[in-house]
Amino acid sequence: MSDLAIAIHGGAGTITPASMTPELEKAYKAALSYALDEGYKILSKGGSALDAVEVAVARLEDSPLFNAGKGSVFTKEGKHEMDAAIMCGKTLEAGAVAGVRSIRNPISLTRAILEHSDHVFMSGYGAEEFARKYGIAFEPEEYFYDPHRYKQFRDVRDTDIFMLDHTEDRKFGTVGAVARDTNGDLAAATSTGGMTNKNYNRIGDSPVIGSGTYANNRTCAISCTGHGEFFIRAVVAYDVSCLMEYKGYTLQEACDKVVLDKLVKFGGEGGLIAVDGKGNIALPFNSEGMYRGCRVSGQEGIVSIYKD
Ligand code: ASP
Repeated sequence: MSDLAIAIHGGAGTITPASMTPELEKAYKAALSYALDEGYKILSKGGSALDAVEVAVARLEDSPLFNAGKGSVFTKEGKHEMDAAIMCGKTLEAGAVAGVRSIRNPISLTRAILEHSDHVFMSGYGAEEFARKYGIAFEPEEYFYDPHRYKQFRDVRDTDIFMLDHTEDRKFGTVGAVARDTNGDLAAATSTGGMTNKNYNRIGDSPVIGSGTYANNRTCAISCTGHGEFFIRAVVAYDVSCLMEYKGYTLQEACDKVVLDKLVKFGGEGGLIAVDGKGNIALPFNSEGMYRGCRVSGQEGIVSIYKD
């Protein structure tokens, strides 16, 4: 078997050519390409889908351009709280964290939970203590400070507005990856700082298995980005999988139904990336744009931002 496939996203929202400079667009595309290549490299050496999605997401977390890890947005308290999840489509094992602070790569913590814990979902101090035990890297507060993010936060902090991080002048986003490896196994990973000016301890869809992240070899692997409150209530990732499993939809049909029809009627702005057992990829979104990229065996990688 071969048919390697990987897709990544760096968030969805009001992303238009008018809101972008050529330099910024170049920087985003370079960061996406780098993460895509790093993930694909693992697959092409016979590595697992789980390793590929973890590495691709970690590289995006390391970039200040995206709302995850280093570039995470500010909460109402002026802090950073990060959510993340990873899932293996072969075993249905998963690891997830919510509201963690100071962790350099929250996605590595989710992987440690998947591998070393009987639990699936940890939050706050308990998750951080677990991270220390397994040698996960911590960073000081300054590491997560970004002047543009701070401006986004300052503009709305005295209000009750909380927003997708990419609705401001500079665009950022939650990050995610999905992959199919040489054995036909699927995996999904998502990491985020959440929404700007979110209430402290608010948890979005990204770490919720079945809402923002899901993988199952029988159907597909999914990572979502968008207005988390809607994605949680619509159980988006599992809904796509269910349409495939119980209704026999193709990956594209299931994604279009959920993102372009059901979510739109529901009022949920955003998108997702998906891969199925054959290595087909779908990248639907109902917002103006979505930072995204994909690569399948025998082809060059592609990265895009706006609607085609
Ligand atoms: N889904 C994320 C959340 O609600 C935000 C995003 O995707 O940008 O936390």
